[in-house]
Amino acid sequence: MTGDQYLLLPGPTPIPERVTRAMSQPMVNHRGPEFKQVLTEVVQGLKQVYRTDQHVLIYPASGTGAMEAAVVNFLSPGDKVLAVSIGVFGDRFAKIAAGFGAQVEKMDFPWGQPADPQRVKERLDQDVNREIKAILVTHNETSTGVFNNIKAISEARGDHPALLMVDAISGLATIDLKMDEWKLDVVASGSQKAFMIPPGLSFLAFSEKALQIHEQTKMPRFYWDVSLGVKYLEKGQTPFTPAVSLFFGLRESLKMMLEEGLDNIIERHCNYRDLVRKAVGAMGLQLLAQDEWASQAVTAVVAPESIGANKIRKYMLEQFNIVLAGGQQNLDNVIFRIGHLGYVRQLDLLAVLAALEITLQQLGWEMEFGAGLNQAQAFILSQTKKGE
Ligand SMILES: *Cc1c(COP(=O)(O)O)cnc(C)c1O
Repeated sequence: MTGDQYLLLPGPTPIPERVTRAMSQPMVNHRGPEFKQVLTEVVQGLKQVYRTDQHVLIYPASGTGAMEAAVVNFLSPGDKVLAVSIGVFGDRFAKIAAGFGAQVEKMDFPWGQPADPQRVKERLDQDVNREIKAILVTHNETSTGVFNNIKAISEARGDHPALLMVDAISGLATIDLKMDEWKLDVVASGSQKAFMIPPGLSFLAFSEKALQIHEQTKMPRFYWDVSLGVKYLEKGQTPFTPAVSLFFGLRESLKMMLEEGLDNIIERHCNYRDLVRKAVGAMGLQLLAQDEWASQAVTAVVAPESIGANKIRKYMLEQFNIVLAGGQQNLDNVIFRIGHLGYVRQLDLLAVLAALEITLQQLGWEMEFGAGLNQAQAFILSQTKKGE
């Protein structure tokens, strides 16, 4: 197979050449002036992406590291926590909190649907003694391709003092999120999703209120301790050795993101979602999520039962060198997922959709051949201007 692979996972995502080049630099002293400059710039850039003026720390870890950091820094063992889950990653957040001794109450919603803010409100209204210390929720549930209305969930919290902790690992910079305006307290994200850099960094933003609560909380912690992080950041350092090369990449990717503009990035991801959904629908396949809550980062497609999702993925990989994600847990072989976040272009998606249509045809799926691609082209046509 020649040529680059089409990597359409919901992370890791393809890396722009500019970022790859930026990472190929000689090593520097992580306690010297060059690194201080890089750290200052990337924290500034990240604050813009999070739309916050509060705190952001960077850990050498995958996204889950930032989720664990959220739990151990802002909770104590025995604290009551409301864990709102709409899929695999919501479950993970709950498991981490339970693993560290929080008293976790799960609020589950069916996979493929978002959380209902009204139910969150009702639960918090019942909590007259204000025992619930935190609400854990996923911004974009990568396992099902559904996003939650975080703004509405924050409003549902009203004046309840619980911290709102959000796993925005695949949602940040693909779906709108305004940390300060929406009064979010803790927001985790990761490098290998919309940030267009390799896996290995995670980001943790937190409010001043969360930092104050942190001083009193008692979960065991050392490596993740945010007070250490905040203290070192003041002198332009991290407490422990940072992933220096990834910082060079991050500085470049943030430059690219801010050149494009956050609103434009989000609109671009909306377009990817609409393009993919229209085309796949025209191929006669079902989508797991309804339009109102369909993710801008990843689309979950229900495979024809007669074929199975994994056979489609295998054929796509072997014939076309295209990598799609499978379904997780109960959704294994039921859905396949097309990641469309970060460094993706419409024409890449067009190629993938064309290949999918050929794959379906070859695996015996009955449909009007070409209808999907036709829809995709028509969508792009509607967005381009007439030539002169
Ligand atoms: C990718 C992802 C994570 C983190 O996974 P890691 O493998 O630890 O990077 C967490 N939550 C969501 C919603 C994700 O998409």
